[in-house]
Amino acid sequence: MAKLSKENLLLLFTVLGVVIGIGLGYSLRDPSTVWSKRHLSYLRFPGDLFVQMLKMLILPMIMSSIITSLASLDSGTAGRLGIVSMTYYTLTTFSAVFLGIVLVTLIKPGKWTTTNVEDLVGNVKTTPCVATAVDTIIDLMKSCFPENLIEATFRSQKVCLKFFNGTQEIPPEVAMTMSPEQRSKFTEVPEKIVSDGMNILGLVVFSVALGIVIGIIGEDGKPMKNFFKSLEACSMKLIGWVIMYSPVGITFLIAAQIVGMKDPGQELHRLMGYVITVILGLLIHAFVIIPLLCVVLARRNPIKFVGGMAQALLTALATSSSSATLPLSIKCCEENNKVDPRVTRFVLPLGATINMDGTALYEAVAAIYISQCVGNDLSIGEVILVSLTATLASIGAAGIPQAGIVTMIMVLIAIGLPTNLFILIFPVDFMLDRLRTTVNVHGDSIATAVIERLCEDQLQKDTHTKHLEESDE
Ligand code: ASP
Repeated sequence: MAKLSKENLLLLFTVLGVVIGIGLGYSLRDPSTVWSKRHLSYLRFPGDLFVQMLKMLILPMIMSSIITSLASLDSGTAGRLGIVSMTYYTLTTFSAVFLGIVLVTLIKPGKWTTTNVEDLVGNVKTTPCVATAVDTIIDLMKSCFPENLIEATFRSQKVCLKFFNGTQEIPPEVAMTMSPEQRSKFTEVPEKIVSDGMNILGLVVFSVALGIVIGIIGEDGKPMKNFFKSLEACSMKLIGWVIMYSPVGITFLIAAQIVGMKDPGQELHRLMGYVITVILGLLIHAFVIIPLLCVVLARRNPIKFVGGMAQALLTALATSSSSATLPLSIKCCEENNKVDPRVTRFVLPLGATINMDGTALYEAVAAIYISQCVGNDLSIGEVILVSLTATLASIGAAGIPQAGIVTMIMVLIAIGLPTNLFILIFPVDFMLDRLRTTVNVHGDSIATAVIERLCEDQLQKDTHTKHLEESDE
């Protein structure tokens, strides 16, 4: 029998974890009994531990990796990395949105359904006032500069929806379980809620600035540089330990999701066209467009590259969170795919917060699907508006589960549709969220290889200069 390396063995266990999770979930699932929230949380407990361990490492990992990577680059190289990354992110996000628009326009999944929208949603004519694209952009820009850095490590502000009837407040998932008559007594209100996630974008911006400053001030910055270098080495070691636990965590996350899932049978039938369109788009983006960029721009073998990222991709599938997957993405890119750490440590944290190809594609398909359902044919101008707002909505979405459906509401507003229509696609969102998160992480990881290649000369020059400086000392 071929000798399996430690990494291969771990990957094998992780794949087994997915299979066992699915098997365990279906064997514990009993349509005649509904599991209580408490019992479900017991089943999910080993998985929650895994997610929390990953989240625990995000702060030391992001700060130390961005700071050490930027502190060791000259400002020219850092600037080039920044510009190339942003340009690449924008182009891939737009291509994902474009693909989504083409597919949803050709397939027309909204016309497949015969169900009356008003039966499902209630009075669709209501146009409640909720957060607009401008609110989301302002929110995004504000979160780049957290007023309190300590608070940013455990709090992030985002616009969220709640349903309110004057006295009682309920979240969308509860509203979904109500009959249309009951639901029509509630109106959606935008709310600036304080989510329990971190303000990763704020931390990234601060770390980039601090890293650049440490690089510029030279001798005075050395103690800080050494401190973060040491913190980075410790974080990487810790992540290695957490990865060992990932097969167990993934098994229970998947099992609990299957056990707790409401029977999607009827809803799945109603939403079949929409689900097929989103999945087809994600598959084309993940298996055709991104690998093509990997071959043409990065000149690397995409199959081998994806193989090296498997652990991170499976974690994204199980956690539905690009942020929680970030420590693993960095480790897989560097250790298995040998991407330059100066690139991964800058490109991945930024990508996990603003480069979400899967989310962007889904936002465009969802908004156009909904407008097809209500018989609202979009003009060319409105389609362009969808592409712009879907891109912005994906940038604004945090790397946490189902953030995309909240920001999708801003796309609905842009084309003048009532926001309560998002209820139409809510029942299958948990499932599509896993898939789009995996595509998000896939897109970010290939981005590191492309950006490394595009900045190759500059990075080599930088290494050369550093060598000369060191030999002078
Ligand atoms: N869950 C996604 C992510 O973490 C965001 C979303 O589309 O909801 O990347």
